[in-house]
Amino acid sequence: MARTYWVETLGCPKNQVDSDKLTGTMLADGLVAADAPDQADLIVVNTCAFIEEARQESIDTVLALSDSRAEGARVVVTGCMAERYGQELAEALPEVDAVAGFGVAVTALASPSAPATTAVAVSIGTKPTRAVPSIAVPSIAVPSFDLLNLPRPRATAPWAYLKVAEGCDRACGFCAIPSFRGQQRSRSVDDLLAEVDQLGAREIVLVAQDLAAYGRDQGVGERSIVPLVRAVAERVDWVRLLYLYPSDLTDELIETVLATGVPYFDLSLQHVSAPLLRRMRRWGNGEKFLDRIAAIRAAEPGAAFRSNFIVGYPGETEHDHDQLLDFVAEAQLDWCGFFSFSKEQGTYAADLDRQVAPELMRDRLAELGELQDAITARRRDDLIGTPVRVLVDATGTARSYREAPEIDGVIAVPDSLEVGSFVEVTVVDALGPDLVAEAVDAPSAVAAVRGEVLSARVEGRP
Ligand code: SF4
Repeated sequence: MARTYWVETLGCPKNQVDSDKLTGTMLADGLVAADAPDQADLIVVNTCAFIEEARQESIDTVLALSDSRAEGARVVVTGCMAERYGQELAEALPEVDAVAGFGVAVTALASPSAPATTAVAVSIGTKPTRAVPSIAVPSIAVPSFDLLNLPRPRATAPWAYLKVAEGCDRACGFCAIPSFRGQQRSRSVDDLLAEVDQLGAREIVLVAQDLAAYGRDQGVGERSIVPLVRAVAERVDWVRLLYLYPSDLTDELIETVLATGVPYFDLSLQHVSAPLLRRMRRWGNGEKFLDRIAAIRAAEPGAAFRSNFIVGYPGETEHDHDQLLDFVAEAQLDWCGFFSFSKEQGTYAADLDRQVAPELMRDRLAELGELQDAITARRRDDLIGTPVRVLVDATGTARSYREAPEIDGVIAVPDSLEVGSFVEVTVVDALGPDLVAEAVDAPSAVAAVRGEVLSARVEGRP
C-alpha cells in the first residue's frame, strides 16, 4: 500500500509555495495524501520563524501533530525555523524524527527503514552570500534540490501564489530573513511562465521577499519585474503583486500594474518617520509615500492599497508614533497590518538602545488598529451599491481586485455562482472588512420575477 503524507504549513504565502513544492515531490515519489494527520505515515511541518509568536505557534503545532500521530508515523520539521535553528531545534524536540532545512528530500523519511530520530543536515552546498552590514550572513546551504524550481501540483483554487525569487539583498535592521534565506536568487522567466501554465489558475499572486527587485541578481536589468508582470498577465486573467519596497515603485511599474486591470498595491512601508526609517536601514518617509499613493490615485481613483507597519521599533518616540497615526489617517489605505517589533537574535535592531516597553507597544498597536479598522470599514461601506467584478474562489465566496486572497476581506456571493468564474455583482452590504454582493443578473431573483409576470399574464392578472 502506498505510504501517505500530511503537510502542515505555517507562516507566509512564500511558505505555502514551498509546501506545494514539497507536496509535488512527495506525489512524484509515489506517496499519496492522507485524509487526516493522524492517518499519515509522514507528517511534514513547514515552520515559520518570523517572530516569537510565529515560532511558538510552529512548536505547538509540531507537538500537537506529534502527539496525535499514528503508530510508526514520522514527523519532519522543515521551513524557516529548521533552517535558522536546525541543531538547536533537533535537540529541543526529541519527539521529532528529523529537522530538515530547505530542499532536503523528505520522502525517504517516510520509509519504515529510515532510522528514527534522524537530524538531517540542514545545510548542504553554498548559497550566494554577501556581507550584509546589519547582520552576519553565514555561508548558507543551497539545498540538494532547490525548492524554487521544483514542480508544483495544479492549483486547487482559482488563484495561486508564484514565488519568483528566494532570499533578499537588503539589510533592514529588524529582519533576520537574509541570514537564513540568503541573497536573492531569481528564477528564470521561462520557468515561471511554465509554472503559471502548470498551475492553471485564473489569478496569479506574485511573491518574493523583495518582489520589485526580481531579476537584479540575473544581470538582466533593474526592472525585469515589469516584463515579468506583463508576460504573466498575458496568460492569466489577474496578476497581483505582493510586497513592493517603496523605492522600487517606479512610474513604469505603476503603469504596468494598472494596465493588468488589478490596481492593487501592497507597499512594504514599515514606518513613516524618516529618522526611524533610517534606524531601520530603510528608504523613504511619509511625505514620499503619500506622494506615490496620490500619483497612483490620480491615474486610477479606484486603486486599492495595503501596507504593513512595525510598531515599537527601538527608538520610536511619541512623535514618531503620532506621525504614523497622521499618515494612516491621511493615506486612507484599504488594508493595513501592524506588528509589534520583535527582537530577532543576530539582527542590527536587537542591540539598539531605546527599546520600547512592551506595554507601550501594545497601546500604540491598539491605537493604530482601531484607527485603521474604522478606515477599512468606511471604505468598505462606500462600496455598497457599486458593481464589482469578482472571481469566485469557493461556493459563496469571491474577491474583487481589492482583496488579496487569504490576506484581505472577502465578498459573500450567492452559492449559485460557479467556482472559478468571473462574475459581475453588486455590493449590497458591508460587514467590517467583508462585503455581501448579489449577482447583477441575479438568476434566481430574475427567474422568480419573470415567473411571476408570466403566470400573471396566463391568469390574466394585472
Ligand atoms: S526587504 Fe523585507 S525581507 Fe528584505 S531585509 Fe527588508 S524586511 Fe527583510
